[in-house]
Amino acid sequence: MTKRLSNEAGCLYVVATPIGNLGDLSGRAAEVLAGVDLIAAEDTRRTRQLLRHLGLDRPLLALHEHNEQARLGALLQRLRGGESIALVSDAGTPLISDPGFPLVRACHAEGVRVVPVPGPSALIAALSVAGLPTDRFRFEGFLPRRASARADLLKSLAAATETLVFYESSHRIGETLEALVGAFGSERPATLARELTKLHETLLSGALGEILAAVEADENQRKGEFVLVVGGAPSHEVDRFEVGLDALLEALLEELPLKRAVAVAARLSGEKKNRVYQLALNLKGEHLGD
Ligand code: SAM
Repeated sequence: MTKRLSNEAGCLYVVATPIGNLGDLSGRAAEVLAGVDLIAAEDTRRTRQLLRHLGLDRPLLALHEHNEQARLGALLQRLRGGESIALVSDAGTPLISDPGFPLVRACHAEGVRVVPVPGPSALIAALSVAGLPTDRFRFEGFLPRRASARADLLKSLAAATETLVFYESSHRIGETLEALVGAFGSERPATLARELTKLHETLLSGALGEILAAVEADENQRKGEFVLVVGGAPSHEVDRFEVGLDALLEALLEELPLKRAVAVAARLSGEKKNRVYQLALNLKGEHLGD
C-alpha cells in the first residue's frame, strides 16, 4: 500500500493532468488534489469532471489568462495564511502554453514554496514517439496567427539544427503545414502527432510535403489536437568535420586536376587555399614517392 502523503501547508502544487486518457493521472497527483485546500483551475467545469472521475469534491477557483493578474493577491494571501493550493490547467502541464506563470513567479518573489507534480505533457509525449533527435529540441508552442508574423518566425528558425516542436489546433493545421513547407522545404523530416492518448491517436511521419499531402487528402487528419515535431536543419559544421581535410583532398585529387581539387577542398573545409595547396603538394609528393 502506498503511504498517504499529507500536503504541506502554504505551498503551491503545480499538478499535471491527463491530455486525453484519464488513466495517465498519477497516483501522487490524485493524492495532492484530494488534500489541498483549493484548486486553481483554468476551466472549473473541466476540472470538476476530472474530480468527479476521482470521486473527489474540492473547492475550485477559476484561474485563466483573463483573470490571472487580478487573482494573484488573493491567492498569495491564502498561501501566506498557510493554505495549500493546487494549480491545474485543462490538460497536461500548467504553464506549458497554459496559464500559471504569473502565479509561480509571484510565489518565488514571496518565498512561497512551489512543488511540481509532474505528469503528462503533449510536448514530451510527441517528442518521445516522433522518431526524431531529442538530445536538443526547441519548443515554439503556437505559431503566430498572422501570416506575415508566422512567416517571419519560421524564416528565423529555418537554419536551426535542433528538433523543433509546435502546438496546433484543428482550425489551422493545413495552413501551418503549408507555411512550414514554404519555410523549411518539402523534404524536411517531421512527425505530426494527433490526439495523443485518445481514441483517434495518429502519428504521420515522413517529409513535410508528404504529411501536408496526407492531411489535405483526408479530412479526419485535420480533426483534433496536434503536436508538430520537425527535424532540425542539417548541420554543415558536423558534416565538414566528419570527413578530414586529408581524406577529402585525397579523394578530390583522384578525380580532378590539382588546382580544381584545391579550390573545392578549400571551399568545403573553410581552410585557406595556400594551406590546402601545400597539403595537396605533400599528398602528391607522397604518391610520387610510392
Ligand atoms: N499544457 C498542455 C501540455 O502540457 O501539453 C498544452 C496546452 S495547449 C493550450 C493545448 C495544445 O497542446 C493543443 O492545441 C495541442 O497542440 C497540444 N495538445 C494537447 N493535448 C494533445 C493531445 N492529446 N494530442 C496532441 N496534441 C495535444
